[in-house]
Amino acid sequence: MRKTAKQWKDIYSTQEFKEKYVCEGASLGALVTQKGTSFRLWSPFADAVTLNLYRQGSGAEAFEKHCMIKGEKGIWEYRTQRNLHEIYYDFTLQMEGRTVFSADPYARACGINGQRSMAVDLGKTDPEGWQEDRPPALEQETVIYELHVKEFSWDRSGGFPEETRGKYTAFLHTDTTLDGDGVHPTGISYLKELGVNYIQLMPVYDYGSVDETGKGADFNWGYDPVNYNVPEGSYSTDPSRGEVRIRELKEMIQSLHAQGFRIIMDVVYNHTYSLDSWFQRTVPWYFYRVNEDGTASNGSACGNDVASEREMCAKYILESVLYWAQEYHMDGFRFDLMGLLDVDLMNRIRAALDERYGKGEKILFGEPWAADRTAMEQEKEQALKQNIHNLDKNTGMFCDNTRDAIKGSALELKEPGFVNGAPGMETEILNSVRAWCGGDGPSGAKAPSQIITYVSSHDNQTLWDKLSETTTDEELRKREYRLAAGIYMTCQGRLFLLSGEEFARSKDGMEDSYNAPIEINRLDWRKAWRERELVDYYRGLIALRKRLPGLCDKSREAWRRIYGQWTRDGVVGFFVDNQPGAGRQRAAWDTVQVIYNSRKEREDCQLPAGEWEVLADGQDSFRWEKPEPARGEIAVEPVSMVILGRREQEK
Ligand code: CA
Repeated sequence: MRKTAKQWKDIYSTQEFKEKYVCEGASLGALVTQKGTSFRLWSPFADAVTLNLYRQGSGAEAFEKHCMIKGEKGIWEYRTQRNLHEIYYDFTLQMEGRTVFSADPYARACGINGQRSMAVDLGKTDPEGWQEDRPPALEQETVIYELHVKEFSWDRSGGFPEETRGKYTAFLHTDTTLDGDGVHPTGISYLKELGVNYIQLMPVYDYGSVDETGKGADFNWGYDPVNYNVPEGSYSTDPSRGEVRIRELKEMIQSLHAQGFRIIMDVVYNHTYSLDSWFQRTVPWYFYRVNEDGTASNGSACGNDVASEREMCAKYILESVLYWAQEYHMDGFRFDLMGLLDVDLMNRIRAALDERYGKGEKILFGEPWAADRTAMEQEKEQALKQNIHNLDKNTGMFCDNTRDAIKGSALELKEPGFVNGAPGMETEILNSVRAWCGGDGPSGAKAPSQIITYVSSHDNQTLWDKLSETTTDEELRKREYRLAAGIYMTCQGRLFLLSGEEFARSKDGMEDSYNAPIEINRLDWRKAWRERELVDYYRGLIALRKRLPGLCDKSREAWRRIYGQWTRDGVVGFFVDNQPGAGRQRAAWDTVQVIYNSRKEREDCQLPAGEWEVLADGQDSFRWEKPEPARGEIAVEPVSMVILGRREQEK
């Protein structure tokens, strides 16, 4: 008789199970060393397990089969003195009177489409100079640029070599230009000019929705994990050879590091592509949440929820994060639906990364929400927005309050925000400026380091499409666009943007383009040059932001730097104490004043005493490069903003 999901759940909840089978220190998966190769699989309820070895990642029969030996804690093992690097494998399990095939949930390499695992000597996958690979030094501010490997280089206008389009290898070409004209930078050199310093990669672990043989579906964002510890194959030049995708992803990271970018990996531990996963086939229902009525919990709206609170599952996720940090030199992690994971686990991950790499060196944040209710056990607390105060100061969350205050709800398309005409948003905007921190702060955030400030990401409409819903006049929409950028770039918190936001990227109004054709999703490098004025506006804002320590401060007391706030209907103003923090280089301006005007009329504002300079306005974000004095009164044009600076007072 096969057990039901509910019966399994009851077994896993017992003290007896935990004592007998939980082994948080165990090393699992295939390990290739000088001494030979070992395979270790955790499967407490299998009656027998056979290891099958293959010369290829798909097709052909096993050339060898070995009975594995059951050891302590439900771990099955096979050891050999042979070096099995690049040998593929899977398991045949006997369980509950039936035969089950499974690849290795702990695999670090795999064949095409991830259906067979591969033993790998990881040292042999390192590109030349990998041992010396280091991320660029941390800058005063984090500016994250979210991109998708295929979207980045797919469009021919990017000028990438044909064979690299849509691949990891495109990122090795750092001097591409528009249609190869040798004049207008695209790709990496374009990003260097833009000034972003973190590149966030949408899923690069092995996912299931794209057919790596090239015969089936050919585009997806990739939020459907199959092999958590293996790179996706469709971005490699040869997905049938397991070592190629590993080397090519490392080469890509090495290249990006050398070009001055840190790398954030988007990780999706909250659910798997299918409930019929390697987890499920080797330890039925252990890695998934089950409702009291015996149905699968579905807080992800993707059919299943991974049970992060169970010990061996927490071990899996923690080790997976550490593996990507160590083996692939990832500089940070963005957790998809972090609200489905538990606070304890997120804090353990933070602490483990801090211990290995130094406090805060690796950036960590996530989406503080879930798609629906989940059946989390053990009285654990979900890493949701309302629990932000229980997360480490250096674990952050996407701030939908700031996002929606600026441009209107991401979900209610016609609902405006501050820039596109919603009344009564002034307090929300001021809270956004302080990253929702402060003694009486409404969010419970400990410091701006916990807040990801943004107005667009891969989810929901692009900023351009959203503003198109509320504003038909295109000239006005462009003003609103710049005001939105000007606002979030002057909010405390870490900055984040969807690739192409800086050139008014559009997906024709589409809210969820996860499996839409690449033609909708691709970065249009021609548009990046058509919209050059907007790109320059972003460039200036980013460069100016890095010169404003008062806004970059991520300490608990940073909110105190914002003072002298005032509002009128549709207008918000404030001052920033822009003194550098201890040990920091002096900033050019000791005091900064910012005014946002969302009204359709010009706003005349009286300046306090002193010699002020306009640093940026609604048209020009590079005015700080050619300072001109401003005294007395300043006009803030309709639907625009102004940033002013005052140098040290004459003694
Ligand atoms: Ca795949």
